[in-house]
Amino acid sequence: MDAKTCVVTGGSRGIGRGIAERFGEDGCSVAVNYHSSEAAAAEVVEAIEAAGGEAVAVQADVTDPEAVGRMAADVREAFGSIDVLVNNAGINQDVFFEEMTHEQWEAVLDVHLDGAFHCTQTFYDDIVEAPDGRLINISSIVAKGGNLGQANYATAKAGIFGFTRTLALELAREGSTANCVAPGFIDTSMVSDLPEAIVEQVEEDTPLGRIGDVAEIADVVAFLASARSSFITGEVIDVNGGMDL
Ligand code: NDP
Repeated sequence: MDAKTCVVTGGSRGIGRGIAERFGEDGCSVAVNYHSSEAAAAEVVEAIEAAGGEAVAVQADVTDPEAVGRMAADVREAFGSIDVLVNNAGINQDVFFEEMTHEQWEAVLDVHLDGAFHCTQTFYDDIVEAPDGRLINISSIVAKGGNLGQANYATAKAGIFGFTRTLALELAREGSTANCVAPGFIDTSMVSDLPEAIVEQVEEDTPLGRIGDVAEIADVVAFLASARSSFITGEVIDVNGGMDL
């Protein structure tokens, strides 16, 4: 990838960490956003710097527009404008719908949808003005298939499809792209916290017979962030080991 400046929300752990480190390996300058995992974000920055890259940890709760504004000021102070925004920050609060509270519904929609809104609004002009501006959103396989106990999460992730498609149309007028990656089950705390029986069932239902690795998502995101993806926009790229949904 040509050296670019990238912001990865939720870059302190899991898939976001994998994406941030991959960008670092590719010679990018990386702003590693975190909410509460300050030490983990510092580790990601260290890993990127140790690999010869440039990185900075930037704190913000993506649901808070003022915090996102302060984060953007930190990013600009470190790197100036950016080329690539990856909306990756996410949470889940799984419970069957009949027991789901409005707080649980709202908390999950807030992080995934309001978070994507605030971060994209804040960096929109950067993406437009960058020579190869890129918006990349992380959705999920459950946006297509639904999942027991995840009405809030599946709804939020399906919203990301419409958001991506619309932003793709609007950004296309400026020569920039927006795409979405929809991972299947990936080895992060979001999955390792699931009961073992569910993980075994997922492995059984996956044609490749296993859950995925964060690097397998990071590779696709790195491709979408690069000039090699220049004629791809508005797409949802499934990375799920062959699950048919
Ligand atoms: P993790 O729980 O491992 O990491 C979540 C990341 O999001 C952390 O860096 C966390 O930061 C950050 N985050 C959470 N809330 C906020 C917030 N309010 N503001 C800023 N950052 C926040 O999750 P994964 O890596 O598994 O998931 C990453 C993305 O991939 C999510 O969008 C998830 O929905 C999606 N996904 C994951 C799949 C999987 O199987 N793992 C499958 C499909 C999609 P901190 O630690 O500082 O709180």
